Amino acid sequence: MNGVLCPPAVLLTKGVYEKTGVTEFLYTISNVLRTIMTKAENVKFTLIVLLVVVKVFFLCQQVHAEEKTIVKRVYNGNTIKMRDGTKVKYIGIDAPDKKGLPFYRMCKEANKKLVNKKEIVIKTDLLEKDENGKVLAYVYVGDLFVNAELIRLGCALACNMPPNERYKDKFFSLQKAARKEKRGFWVFEDISAEPYYIGSKNKKEFHRPGCFHANHLDFDDRIILRTKEEALRRGFAQDWRCCPLFEEPEEDIKDNTSQKREELR
Ligand SMILES: [Zn+2]
Repeated sequence: MNGVLCPPAVLLTKGVYEKTGVTEFLYTISNVLRTIMTKAENVKFTLIVLLVVVKVFFLCQQVHAEEKTIVKRVYNGNTIKMRDGTKVKYIGIDAPDKKGLPFYRMCKEANKKLVNKKEIVIKTDLLEKDENGKVLAYVYVGDLFVNAELIRLGCALACNMPPNERYKDKFFSLQKAARKEKRGFWVFEDISAEPYYIGSKNKKEFHRPGCFHANHLDFDDRIILRTKEEALRRGFAQDWRCCPLFEEPEEDIKDNTSQKREELR
């Protein structure tokens, strides 16, 4: 019986303690539980003990994955800085990340309007940080789910970011609706089509066939996509430099698009 009951206790000691910082409290509980388990002869009682252990385990994980904070700065449409200096990147959405790219200002302003200087709750998924140390998160202001709202407004693209896929279907269906109803940047959708598009499997973004950056992708990373629909259906966002989804936007939100296009030629 002990053999069955030990794994959760081991998980408690090794996994959760390090993450939550409530080491001593949990260590005591774990020891008490282990003592009870060794003495318990009644199967029903043992199962109840096991349930308590599992509940405490998940409770700790929840505490770890959720955090309340104030937004100090908005970098762009999907990256912010919190009061303690931590940088947070939104899960499952893509937006132009540099000044000069099409729709940069529009996406940044939309994000700013939703979160700047406000109290937010961030929730992480399976992968908690990206390769640059930014926290990957779902962001909430009260009941408003910011990641989803930006896609709904047409101010961010849905993007598949495995293994963080909890809301993947929701994000892509919101994008479908925003595109259909021409919200945000979808007003500028390029309805003409290139003969094909080039995707990067690693970055999960696709390019126009003539894009300089597409032609420098590693052979193993390249994938040919026949249409924009296929690219979107397969969870690709776009390269904002060659901007295969949209036409050149109007002057006030253009952000040097022509200059960028010129550089690509
Ligand atoms: Zn490109």
